[in-house]
Amino acid sequence: MPQLDHREPARHPREREARQLALIHRIARIVAENLTIPARLQLIVRLLQEHLHCEFVACASIDLREGRFRCEALATDIPSVIHVGYARDLGSGVVGEVAASGQTLYVADVRQHTNYVETLPGVRSELCVAMRHNGEVMGVINAEATRCDAFAEEIDLLETIADQLAGMFVAERLYSEQRQRVELLGMLSELSRTAIDAEGLDEVLLRIAQFLCERFALESVGVLLAGSSPDRLRLSAHAGTSVFDGRGGGDWPATLGVVGRAFRTGQAQYVADVIGDPDYVLGNPAVTTEYVLPIRVRGEFVGLLNLEAADPAALGEANRQMLAALADQVAGAVHLAATNERLRETNRLVEEKSAALGQANLRLREANRQLEHLSHCDGLTGIANRRRFDAALAAEWGRAQRHAYPIALLLLDIDDFKGYNDGYGHLAGDDALRQVARALSQALGRAEDCAARYGGEEFAVLLPQSTLADAQQVAAHIARAIAQLALPHAYSRAAPHLTLSIGVAALVPQPELDALTLVTRADGALYRAKALGRNRIETAATSFVQVAE
Ligand code: GH3
Ligand code: MG
Ligand code: MG
Repeated sequence: MPQLDHREPARHPREREARQLALIHRIARIVAENLTIPARLQLIVRLLQEHLHCEFVACASIDLREGRFRCEALATDIPSVIHVGYARDLGSGVVGEVAASGQTLYVADVRQHTNYVETLPGVRSELCVAMRHNGEVMGVINAEATRCDAFAEEIDLLETIADQLAGMFVAERLYSEQRQRVELLGMLSELSRTAIDAEGLDEVLLRIAQFLCERFALESVGVLLAGSSPDRLRLSAHAGTSVFDGRGGGDWPATLGVVGRAFRTGQAQYVADVIGDPDYVLGNPAVTTEYVLPIRVRGEFVGLLNLEAADPAALGEANRQMLAALADQVAGAVHLAATNERLRETNRLVEEKSAALGQANLRLREANRQLEHLSHCDGLTGIANRRRFDAALAAEWGRAQRHAYPIALLLLDIDDFKGYNDGYGHLAGDDALRQVARALSQALGRAEDCAARYGGEEFAVLLPQSTLADAQQVAAHIARAIAQLALPHAYSRAAPHLTLSIGVAALVPQPELDALTLVTRADGALYRAKALGRNRIETAATSFVQVAE
């Protein structure tokens, strides 16, 4: 095949077809090259201009939200007002018409077309095709020539190339979305780590503010939380420089600034040019753009994220989308930190209460122990009281019965104690009772022996596992101990010092007997001791009970 000369128009259909195929092939290779979109487009428009033998080829992208198209690349032989970055409203001119309709428009003679906007002097014909993907117009290829009807043979070709370029735009868009998503995920996990490491809500927020300030190259980041007051926000964390610096304290009035507007409306506020915003409060003169995002926890407003940038690009659309996603993360961190703080506070309270409860329990146990002790003790002498004696007697009686052990009891009564009281006074009487009680206790050798105040000036000594002889010995020992006290008793009929009369009884419990038998027996013996002149030990008769000697 002979070498094709691209500078000359093709004369034969076969040649034209071959040239068209070669062009499509070359464009496919450029599309696949690792260059930026504008660089690839620039190569492509130049190739197209050469192929079409025309004075002007341009490629425009479409911004549907803004309702405008923008020149991305152009190749021209004629000086023109069009340049890369040149933008016009959709619908205006041939390009605008195609951008709006998505339909190819071929104007063989521009003088016949009412919507023709002359941007190139001397142009006679124009071909404009849309780059479409799934019905969406992504851009436009536009070729213009100073000859009439320059493109009749090239419409199909240009439509094919437009499809190729639409694919390139879509791939690029997907790639950049993917990249953004990856970047966002990275930031989210970095932010989570940052927040988790921090101690307490304020530190979490400070770290988040610093992170956002740095990563988005912002002038200032403030986290304002709704506080106890409905008309004020609390500046909880702040990074960078801003209007907040000058306002002492951490409060921000809910009526003030763009922040106030976001607070009142509950809506995100994006101010592309702060100078044009009537609510903007001038702080840092370098700030051009402000973005305020509500922070919500489970739908409930908890605060605002205030972001200020010197370079508007820092708060461009893609970044705003990311920041909105990050605001949710901030909400999560706020929620987590607040929950943690409440948990810590609750734990502290529980610990405090537990400690107090422990102390109270300890005191209560001690009080109970004392109470228990007191309930078993005689208040005056400190030895076992009557209640304790009764319990001990019942228990020991049972035990003696089970094991057929002997059990003995002494009943002891101070002689002429009424006279003692009358003669020496009641207080001296009390003191004598205490001394007798102490002497009694000390006279007992075994732990199971129990000395008790039986009532008034009467005492009882219970001697488990003791025979009558054992008991008599103990009684004699006690009598000696009391004698050794040598408490003068001028009013006694028995002796010049304080003495006891003691009744002794012992028995091995039998089924037909009860503990009262023992008491009655001892009491009988005591009565006899009194009757026989006091200061003596009398033993109960053992006629009907078996006494182990
Ligand atoms: P007897 O030798 O027959 O036992 O004569 P008594 O005077 O000891 O017997 P009585 O039952 O007539 O008097 C007992 C006295 O014990 C009367 C009471 O004033 C005195 N008494 C009883 N309990 C107390 C007490 O707790 N403190 C004092 N100081 N005296 C008491
Ligand atoms: Mg007495
Ligand atoms: Mg008495």
